[in-house]
Amino acid sequence: MTDIDEIGKTVDYCSRAMALMARFGIDPHPVHYEVWYTYAAGTNADLTRAIDNHLQKNGNAITGEVSETLWRQYCGRHATNEAIEQASEQMAGHIDRIVEHLERAAHDSNAFSNALEGVTSSVEGETDPAALRTVVARLVDASRKMEAKSRALETELETSVTEIKRLRDTLETTKREATTDTLTGLANRHYFEEKLQRAVREAVENKQQLSLILGDIDHFNAFNETWGHLTGDQVLRLVGGCLSENVKGRDIAARFGGEEFAVIFPQTGLKGARIVANHIRQTVERKKIVKKSTGETLGRITMSFGAVEYHAGERMGDMLQRAERALRVAKMRGRNITVGEDELGQDATVPPPASASVRGAA
Ligand code: GH3
Ligand code: MG
Ligand code: MG
Repeated sequence: MTDIDEIGKTVDYCSRAMALMARFGIDPHPVHYEVWYTYAAGTNADLTRAIDNHLQKNGNAITGEVSETLWRQYCGRHATNEAIEQASEQMAGHIDRIVEHLERAAHDSNAFSNALEGVTSSVEGETDPAALRTVVARLVDASRKMEAKSRALETELETSVTEIKRLRDTLETTKREATTDTLTGLANRHYFEEKLQRAVREAVENKQQLSLILGDIDHFNAFNETWGHLTGDQVLRLVGGCLSENVKGRDIAARFGGEEFAVIFPQTGLKGARIVANHIRQTVERKKIVKKSTGETLGRITMSFGAVEYHAGERMGDMLQRAERALRVAKMRGRNITVGEDELGQDATVPPPASASVRGAA
């Protein structure tokens, strides 16, 4: 199938999905859009059957609520962040091509209208005036009709382009919301695990290094008890900022849990991971905590880190457990330090974690 065929199909499914949502009075939110695009494309037999049955039983009517339930039932359960990301990337690719195509069409119709006008003026002033006047009149008439058509087309295209661009923005926002921790703006735990899983796969495939750090704020319980949870949240935001400041490029910083943070370093060994952990640690300890509402200085906070690298053949969960063990050793050794897995030897008897935060990770 050529690109143009593919674009044609996508536009067709897209406009059929839009038309269906408009007919049933359903808001063109990405969730609904996914349901109705899938229905229009006929790529999910279960969903198609469920919609057809519902329409048959309910006098050809369906509500947004039902559409959302269908999404959860037939699309939502597959809609992991990775799927959203993939769909969104594909959608953006299709949309970019459609936008290009439509913009070219708009330009062509303008050019055609200009060309007709050119012919009109070039014929003027030639031989038999009566005959020429007729030709010119016909040309002018044709030109006007073309211009009107072209204007209508342009308006339609502009509307489509605006709608598609809006859809793309909404998809982008949905994707961002699904993968981001709202408090800190870092990747959330779910997205982190997906990224780590992928990073492990790539490290194995390309025989490259991969490392990871796990950090935890020191004595944060006491901080919360002294200054309150809301101020504690401000500190989490501040720490999130310290991670963003020090983590660049392909490395991924995430809020791993309540006051725990993690960073994935693809193509990087333990040494590199430890250096960044210490940079983050130093950035955090240098920050003076000031209560926004009163300007009161609340002192400083520190963080401890565990740093590990991927061992060939192990599972993602093994690596995470080793990172948690290194972090516990950092706490035992007095906090505000980074402990690498190469320092774990003499601490092999570290007690198991109190939390089950990394257990079960495959
Ligand atoms: P340690 O140095 O051993 O890590 O001591 P800690 O007090 O930081 O450790 P612990 O794990 O016992 O306490 C973690 C505290 O983090 C508990 C909770 O009050 C706080 N916390 C977890 N999530 C949040 C959050 O979203 N907001 C706020 N304000 N506090 C949180
Ligand atoms: Mg903790
Ligand atoms: Mg802590």
